[in-house]
Amino acid sequence: IAQVEFEKADNENLRSPICCIMGHVDAGKTKLLDCIRGTNVQEGEAGGITQQIGATYLPGENLRDRINRELKVHVGLKVPGLLLIDTPGHESFMNLRSRGSGLCDIAILVVDIMDGIKPQTVESLKLLKMRKTPFIVALNKVDRLYGWKTCHNASIVKAKNQQSKDVQNEFERRLTEIIAQFKEQGLNSNLYYRIKRGENEEKREKEEKGEREETISIVPTSAISGEGIPDMLLLLVKWCQRDMVEKLTYRDKVQCTVLEVKVNEGDGTTIDVVLVNGVLHEGDQIVVCGMQGPIVTTIRALSTPHPLKELRVKGTYLHHKEIKAAQFIKIAAQDLKNAVAGTDIYVVGPNDDLEVVKELTMGDKESVMNRIHRTGEGVYVQASTLGSLEALLDFLKTPAVNIPVSGIGIGPVHKKDVMRARIMLEKKKKEYATILAFDVKVTPDARGIADKHGVRIFTADTIYPLINQFKAYIHTHKEEKKKDVADKTIYPCVLKIKPECVFKKKDPIIVGVDVLQGIAKVGTPICIPQKKFIDIGRITRILNKEQQVDLARKGSAVSIEISGSNPVEKQTKFGRHFEIEDELVSHLSRSSIDILEELYWDELPKELRKLVVNMKKLFKIL
Ligand code: GDP
Repeated sequence: IAQVEFEKADNENLRSPICCIMGHVDAGKTKLLDCIRGTNVQEGEAGGITQQIGATYLPGENLRDRINRELKVHVGLKVPGLLLIDTPGHESFMNLRSRGSGLCDIAILVVDIMDGIKPQTVESLKLLKMRKTPFIVALNKVDRLYGWKTCHNASIVKAKNQQSKDVQNEFERRLTEIIAQFKEQGLNSNLYYRIKRGENEEKREKEEKGEREETISIVPTSAISGEGIPDMLLLLVKWCQRDMVEKLTYRDKVQCTVLEVKVNEGDGTTIDVVLVNGVLHEGDQIVVCGMQGPIVTTIRALSTPHPLKELRVKGTYLHHKEIKAAQFIKIAAQDLKNAVAGTDIYVVGPNDDLEVVKELTMGDKESVMNRIHRTGEGVYVQASTLGSLEALLDFLKTPAVNIPVSGIGIGPVHKKDVMRARIMLEKKKKEYATILAFDVKVTPDARGIADKHGVRIFTADTIYPLINQFKAYIHTHKEEKKKDVADKTIYPCVLKIKPECVFKKKDPIIVGVDVLQGIAKVGTPICIPQKKFIDIGRITRILNKEQQVDLARKGSAVSIEISGSNPVEKQTKFGRHFEIEDELVSHLSRSSIDILEELYWDELPKELRKLVVNMKKLFKIL
């Protein structure tokens, strides 16, 4: 890398890349950011857990200095800086989109060299792949290799050369293992300086033809002693400037997405936004998408976290009259309380028609809102941003999951959301009186009301655990319900009386039958479709080779006893009301079909489902 040099930045006008940091819990995401910033937030947090989105802007000079100092290369920096976003609910941020493309330009996937790839890493990989976000891997905690000699902030090549043979071997062993783990995930990876020049260009061409993935760069790092950090910064910058020129070309038109809506005591509500393109000014008239409609307001104040500090650290804001993209900004304005996180805000220009801008602003939200299940029955879904809501709705809709949604909301779960979810109790859909809270807080009020009324709230900051919790609940709920209605559960069946097997002609009728179709179960009402659907009673006993059984399946030959549902004077008799050639058919009703459809449908064999459908036609059940 010693000879890496960039051409002078002249006619290209690039904005700062937006970079997201992902990885499993404890991989060192927070520490890595601390190290990049030279601050220490991680220790100040409860249990070191990142509580909310934090953003760090790394100015160009800082980037250049660090790279130059440690790597002794001159960087012709074209990007003004680097905007790093530390996202605890990765999914939330990764799902944010602005004008159809992801907010995040690149990502750093942090992997602990001692742990390798963990399930959460795999989730991150899925997300990166789905969003087509390019990324590098920071193979963190190299200083934990036994016997590692610290070389503060050194390039990884230099640091590695200082290590004993044993440490180097151990490093190679772990690296090889992790490369193999990535391979298992279908990804090629290698130490970044072992990837040959031109290798990826070639691969990218092949990939376009649908052949192979390019090799992912691995940068070994220590977030504690700083080895490899300059390499990582160089790699990010180099990569952006080489491969993302088009995406990173600065545009004047304001492109700005709301990340979070913050209700602050005292100074009202503010919104945290990422300004991707354009300039915002104090006094600009803006339109923000609101839960109840467009919010037209004026920017009262614009502030950013101090460079190198992050938004989470209090009292470190800088105020601006105007700010140019890309930046992470706090906007103060009136009436922002109902703003919808994850939507784009629009600036009203002198020639703009306010009504048109309003419509534009509401467009994304409306398209998401329109996806609610039409029957009005389903769970209530609450997510942190429009993007994460959208991702969750998409996921719930997939055939493998198939969970209907009746209502949606964005932001923390409040009392009103619980009251909306509660409607499902009135509709006798207890299992849907549930809120799936994706990466949002639940207010204590809401929790109290939910407990009181029997509304369930499931929370998680990633999709899979959230859905799994709900599925487990549905399963238990279903099993309970099955027990409750066991007596009323009957299946469709078609029976044929065997000649010479009419043992008793009138109530209780006892006949030998072949089960031609379906399942005959004790309790099943039997009718004769050929004789105007006359009801002859219910199956009260089934004997299979002298053994009493509860049910008999297609293909079996059994004796059944049918006892009358009719008063004595109207009792049906064999030979009078029906004959040997008449088929005996289960008389299914709307409610018995409901039970099958609601509780047993997934487990019914195809043939039986078909029979149910045919019986619905036979009995004219719509
Ligand atoms: P996060 O959950 O991914 O944000 O992980 P943190 O940044 O909170 O780090 C988890 C733990 O690993 C903390 O105790 C850190 O001090 C420690 N840690 C993080 N990076 C390194 C590293 O490079 N070397 C060593 N030795 N420890 C690290």
